[in-house]
Amino acid sequence: MQHRKRWAIAVGVAALAALAAACGGDGEDERTVPLESLLTPVETSAPAETPAGDDAPTPGTFPPTPETLDRQLDDDATMRQRREHLVSTYVASVVQTGRVLDAMRAVPRHAFVPTRYLDEAYNDHPLPIGYGQTISQPSLVAMMTDLLALEDGDRVLEIGTGSGYQAAILRELTPEVYTIEIIPELAGTARRIFDELGYADVHTLRADGYYGWEVFAPFDAIIVTAAPDHLPSPLVAQLKEEGGRMVIPIGPPGGYQSLWFVQRHGDDIDMSRVLDVMFVPFTREADE
Ligand code: SAH
Repeated sequence: MQHRKRWAIAVGVAALAALAAACGGDGEDERTVPLESLLTPVETSAPAETPAGDDAPTPGTFPPTPETLDRQLDDDATMRQRREHLVSTYVASVVQTGRVLDAMRAVPRHAFVPTRYLDEAYNDHPLPIGYGQTISQPSLVAMMTDLLALEDGDRVLEIGTGSGYQAAILRELTPEVYTIEIIPELAGTARRIFDELGYADVHTLRADGYYGWEVFAPFDAIIVTAAPDHLPSPLVAQLKEEGGRMVIPIGPPGGYQSLWFVQRHGDDIDMSRVLDVMFVPFTREADE
């Protein structure tokens, strides 16, 4: 391990207070939080708990892929027709951006769900993908993607690969997609689907996404698809300094959370509440 000075991030008491105010149930929908209150800079060698350091695995070679895949990868006229109906009815009523709608039309959602749910793949609701996790509701995927305002060439990090569907949507919008999943089996299945469907250059990692993916930071955009009870400071630190955007549900596990749009302007972190959502809990490596 190379020893060099670097910034490690610790959440102090002041940060927690600021976040409680920013994300708590006080009904406040807009808030600017100074970056300082989120990040306590300390000089140290690489923190032991950071998964992606100088020894980070090579993207694409990890995690291991499963031998059998319970997915129907082929697209056909019926699936395309159902997808078109989903996009033109449910998705287009919440998102108007042409590029996002095109991405939703391009990605075969049915290929990301277990085959027993094939017939439900183009309904606008979440579906089980195993291990207690779900593929998100398509209209919500489109809305969160739209909020990121991705331009071709932007570097985007997703926390919570799950089925891989959201990452494939992101890959339709920009070539630089990085995604982290904590459950090895889901990470492996998604990796294989990416390879088979032509999304082989999506970078995948099996890790606790709380720490982000430091070697590839800064990110133009970060999307979190599981709900932590606070804003993870390492993710804020990995946002591009000027204009980096994050979309993240924050709130108690098992109930409704608030979806927040977070934007970094140098040392200021602007937060605005978008709507109530229900996501699976953001788990930590220690919980596994
Ligand atoms: N974006 C996914 C949604 C999957 S549900 C999709 O399109 O299908 C959220 C996922 O987040 C689950 O797979 C869960 O295992 C994962 N997750 C929860 N906590 C995590 C963490 N700390 N780091 C990485 N992934 C996490």
